[in-house]
Formats: sequence, C-alpha cells, structure tokens
Amino acid sequence: MNNEQRMHPPYRVPPRRRKPSAQYDQFEATELYCPKCRQAMPVRKRLLLVLPEGDKYEYLCAACLTTVGDKIEKATEGIGLVRP
Ligand SMILES: [Zn+2]
Repeated sequence: MNNEQRMHPPYRVPPRRRKPSAQYDQFEATELYCPKCRQAMPVRKRLLLVLPEGDKYEYLCAACLTTVGDKIEKATEGIGLVRP
C-alpha cells in the first residue's frame, strides 16, 4: 500500500501575496484634477513611451478621457500635470 505518493503533491503551492513595494506604484495616482470636469477625477493609466530612463505613462480622465497628467516610472516619482 503506497497510496501516500498520490495523496500528497510533490510541492506546496505558495499562497498568493502582493508585493508590499508595488502598492505605491498602483495607488499613487488614482485621482487627478481634470480641467474639463473641473474636479479631481479617477484616472486611467496608459503606457505612452518607453524611454531609456523609464516608461512614460499618461493619465487620462476616466470620464472624458482628457489627458490630465503623465509620468515616467522608475526614473522619477513625480507626476507632471498637463497645463492648458
Ligand atoms: Zn474629465
């Protein structure tokens, strides 16, 4: 009787967990001021360019799709707001 080999998988699947350091990237710019809506709006993040210093992302207003900001990830942390 050697049923134990079938009962137990060879390895355990580790539980899912989020990387603690990734939180800041995901949630740093969920809302930005939209000049068209005249208030802070939730934004959509879109990859715009891949630059040597990092990936450039564009933030679009989720309601009217106006570009409300952009940023280069990795090299700089700041968000440059687009001014009309
Ligand atoms: Zn808007």
